[in-house]
Amino acid sequence: MLVELAQRGNFFITWAVLTVLAFGMTMLMSGLLFARYYWRPTFETWQGKSSPQYPKPAIVRREVLQMLKGIYTATFCPAVALHLVPFGISHAYGGLGGYGVGYLVLSFFVVWIGTDFYEFAYHRLGHSFDFWWSQHKAHHVFANPSPFAVIADDHVDQLIRSAPMLVLPLFMPINMDLLFFTFGAFFYGYGVYLHWGHELSWLGAHQPIVNTSFQHYVHHARSTIRKPMHTGFFFKAWDQMAGSLYDAPPEECLCAAHCVARGERTREAFERIVKPDYSVLLKPSYWWHGERRAPEHEPAE
Ligand SMILES: [Zn+2]
Ligand SMILES: [Zn+2]
Ligand SMILES: [Zn+2]
Repeated sequence: MLVELAQRGNFFITWAVLTVLAFGMTMLMSGLLFARYYWRPTFETWQGKSSPQYPKPAIVRREVLQMLKGIYTATFCPAVALHLVPFGISHAYGGLGGYGVGYLVLSFFVVWIGTDFYEFAYHRLGHSFDFWWSQHKAHHVFANPSPFAVIADDHVDQLIRSAPMLVLPLFMPINMDLLFFTFGAFFYGYGVYLHWGHELSWLGAHQPIVNTSFQHYVHHARSTIRKPMHTGFFFKAWDQMAGSLYDAPPEECLCAAHCVARGERTREAFERIVKPDYSVLLKPSYWWHGERRAPEHEPAE
């Protein structure tokens, strides 16, 4: 599908189509979760929220605007990979490409595990050195992120994060539809879960296998320069090996389950929490002018 698209059009058309596709998928996934859990929170959904607070509309607006930057940056790499095919540099292919279904499955796992380690290592770099932190810190403007923050990154940071979509086809034959949708749906989908801000009852934050939404919440809330903590994406194994886990004792743990167990998530506490009026996000003028045109919706800090 994508290979044929690149054969027909020029580079900029491919890039634009990929951007529109990515925009549709990412906005849908993030928007649905935001609508369900942030727009009209209930006592029950709040009890599963890692941070007891809800981000202000101005912060969500900033996340979405930064996310747009992330989208067109992320689609640059697969667009280049597709247009290198005629030069024999890129091994991107469409359909089965003569490799069979087994190879499709194998390449999915190579992409999944390989990219997960790569994303961990690059993310850790961003928390280790001043230069890389200066590229990554835009993602950490959001200490209490919403599902719109998944790829709310600066250009260089997001370009390097999406580089496997260009680099992998240079080294191995890969079905571009599989690669694009693995990133756009599978990885982004997990990223939406990580930035959801709420915890699943059936996937405990303290199991040893995968990073949950709580680990990524703690990453935003506590991790900074020279303090890498849960820079991993799917698997906890990388942070376990690097010794960068958050493991506070139950009496201090920030996770929602422990907060509930300590009796901190009462109905009275919920009533006191500010529930922002996000309806301002439906006004086009708010997107152009931000707070200047809608000061009444922005209570002071
Ligand atoms: Zn980070
Ligand atoms: Zn994040
Ligand atoms: Zn906990």
